Parts: sequence; C-alpha cells; structure tokens
Amino acid sequence: MPAAQTALVIGGGIAGPVAATALTMAGIDAAVYEARDPAGANGIGGSLALEPNGLAVLAIVGADDAVRAAAAPITRSVMSMGSKPGRDMPAPQGLPPRQLIDRGALHRILRDRAQRAGVRIHDGKKLIRIDEQPDEQRDGVTAHFADGSSASADLLVGADGVHSTVRRLIDPDAPGARYLNLLGFEGVADDAADTAELEPGTMTFAFGRRAYYLYWKRPDGRIGWGANLPSEQYLTLMQARAVAAEDWLHTLRSAYANDIPGARLAAETTGETLQAVGGLHIMPPVPHWHRGRMVLVGDAVHAPSNSTGQGASLAMESAVQLARCLRDLPDVPSAFAAYERLRRPRVEKIAARGARISHAKAPGPIAQRLMAVMVPLMVTTLNIEKTMAAEQSYAIDWNAPALQDAEALA
Ligand SMILES: Cc1cc2nc3c(=O)[nH]c(=O)nc-3n(C[C@H](O)[C@H](O)[C@H](O)COP(=O)(O)OP(=O)(O)OC[C@H]3O[C@@H](n4cnc5c(N)ncnc54)[C@H](O)[C@@H]3O)c2cc1C
Repeated sequence: MPAAQTALVIGGGIAGPVAATALTMAGIDAAVYEARDPAGANGIGGSLALEPNGLAVLAIVGADDAVRAAAAPITRSVMSMGSKPGRDMPAPQGLPPRQLIDRGALHRILRDRAQRAGVRIHDGKKLIRIDEQPDEQRDGVTAHFADGSSASADLLVGADGVHSTVRRLIDPDAPGARYLNLLGFEGVADDAADTAELEPGTMTFAFGRRAYYLYWKRPDGRIGWGANLPSEQYLTLMQARAVAAEDWLHTLRSAYANDIPGARLAAETTGETLQAVGGLHIMPPVPHWHRGRMVLVGDAVHAPSNSTGQGASLAMESAVQLARCLRDLPDVPSAFAAYERLRRPRVEKIAARGARISHAKAPGPIAQRLMAVMVPLMVTTLNIEKTMAAEQSYAIDWNAPALQDAEALA
C-alpha cells in the first residue's frame, strides 16, 4: 500500500506531469492543476537540452522514445573564448548524447504521457491558498484556485516552478529565487555565414567579449542561439516581452558586435524569431522541502540555473524519486523525509556548480578583462569530465525499494 491514495500536483510544466505519471505508477491517483490557459501554452518557449540522466528518468515513465523522436541529438560540445577557435569539451564516456528539444514539444509529450497513465490535467487553475484539514478519518489538504474552485486529496505536490506559491505556503520565510544579473533570449539566425562550417549535433558555448551565448545548427539548417545578457535591471518574462523585439535586437547587436559569430547571429536574427525570457534565476538552498501534507519538486525547490543544463533533468529525477518514496515508505512523513534525503545533496551540489558558471557569465569590469584566463581555469578546476560523468550517469532504479536507499543515507 502506498503512503497515500490521492495527490494534487500543482504545476503542469515539466516536473508536474512527470510526478503525476510516476505517482500513478506508484498506485496513487494524481491530478495536475496548471495555472496557464489554454492547455499546452509553453511559457518561456525556446529549446531545452536534456542530459542522459534526464533521459533515464523519461525511460522510467515511458516517454523517452517520444522525446528522442522529437529531439535532435547533440554529440559534440565546444567552448570558445572571444573570437578564438573553440576547444572540444570532454564528454563522459559510454553515455547517450544529450537531446535538444523544443520546450513546447516536451510539454505536449509529458502531458500526453500523463493523460495516458490516467492523470487528469486541469488548465486555468491557479493555486492561491491551501487548507490543511485534519479529517476525522484521515489527514488531507484542500487547494483553492483563483477561479473559486477547489480540490482535495491526501497530499499536495508543489511543481509550480521557480516562483512557487507552494514553497511560500510551506514556509512563509522560504527564500525566493535569486536573480543572476542575466537576461535570457533565444533566436534563430536565417543566414549566418560565419557558421557555414558548423556541423549539426555540435553545440558551441561562447564567452563573448561582453556577453555569453551559445549556438547550434538546427535540423532545418538555420542557426539557433541563446544569449545571456548581463543586466543589473531585473525583468520578469512579461516585462521583457513588453519591450519590442527590434529594441532587444538593437541591444543584442551592440553586446555581440565584436564577437565571431555572435555579431552575425545577432545581425541575422529577426524580431519574429527572437524570444525574450526575462531574468535568469537560481534557487538558494530551501530550508523546508515539505511540511505536513505538502512537498516540493523541481524548480520550486532546486532551480540550479540554466548554466548547468540540468534544471529539467533534475526536476524529473525528483518527481520520480518522490513517487518511489511514497510507494515504498510506510507513511507520508517518512516518505517526504526519505525523498529529501535522497535528493538534497545532489541538487545542491549541481546548483553550486551552476552558480560558479553564472558568475563567469556576468563578470565585473576587472574579471571581464581576465576572462581569457578565468574560463579555461574554471574548466580545469571544475574537473569537467569527472563532474559531468557524476551528474549525467545518475540513474534511479525504479524497481528497487526506496527504503533501502534512504536508510543507506540516514
Ligand atoms: C532560458 C532558460 C534555459 C533553460 N535551459 C535548460 C536546458 O537546456 N536544460 C534544462 O534541463 N533546463 C533548462 N532550463 C531550466 C528548466 O526550464 C527548468 O529547470 C524546468 O522548466 C523546471 O521544471 P518545473 O516543472 O519544475 O518548472 P516549470 O517548467 O517552470 O513549470 C512550473 C509550472 O507551474 C505553473 N504554475 C506556477 N504557479 C502556479 C500556481 N500558483 N498554480 C498552478 N500552476 C502554477 C507554471 O505555469 C508552469 O507551467 C532553462 C531555463 C531557462 C530560464
């Protein structure tokens, strides 16, 4: 018997549908409540790289084949400084390639998979309040939504992203997401002559003179690129999107003016393909991952910054590990405690790595002059190959009892 019979999952992004699918597989009836309407709207859009550990989780919930079919493999990673030729980055041996997928396509696949597992997905349900009602028969929780409706279950999973409402309901003093002094953008360059030689399957991470960017050849032959623009001024997604794309392009063209191929990518990108993301974040360690019948997964509790390329993969890992603990531990408090014990060290270590990289992406004026020395040094001191192998070879054994793993860490 699982530790609970029913669950409300708040948030239908990445962690939410995966958590709901895994909970259903664990014998817990789960429903997802997503603030956005219409169904499937994908928020920040753009592309997302899934690491081998993320694909391993997708295999557990039976969504890996669909993701691979919709994604493009990235088989080579290159790091470049300024306009110098890039250096190949070491890749862990024996692991499948990371997969680059459109965020909207990933959302659709995860939602479809959850629905096929029997999960009910309710869109337009913004959580605003929770009642924890100790029932005469059993404990439970009631979620209240902005449209006046409510829903009750044995427990509530907060998969509501980096600005989580559930995090504050668990602990009003919980830290908020920290702004990394970087604004995010993604665009597509129609014709970038400087990248004519670029092989499909190669992702280049480029530290430009004034700003970091990354680029890759898309299956349609055009060049996709992402920009991290240093900015002291914080902007939400909506605020960034309120600025005209042409104005952002003007700013990006100036920021990358002295970079090859950054200047060309910015010049060849049109307003139609440019997507502003707003401020990029990292979650500082969250003191309380759960309270009573409420628990957090994904960015709501451990957003590791986009610099790690691990946010979505870690979110899905936590979702599956939580379901496994609820399946195998005798009651909800011990399942939540085991879940936190299994997840906290890994996600906080990866977030610490992300913080160091993000720092290098938004250097102060002195550090900026030292970048050519700093970045290769950072790659060496991070022991990138060993670090990547530890991060990417991680796999959850769904069929093994969670109790054993949790006891080993106790
Ligand atoms: C520019 C950028 C690039 C990135 N690139 C990568 C990458 O390449 N690889 C990678 O692994 N990660 C990447 N990430 C990180 C990744 O996007 C996140 O780690 C991932 O989306 C976390 O999933 P989640 O489900 O926890 O949160 P989200 O995807 O944010 O989903 C949360 C959901 O909860 C909903 N919600 C919020 N509040 C409420 C409420 N009150 N009630 C109901 N629903 C609510 C939201 O509408 C949303 O749908 C990137 C992030 C950014 C910003």
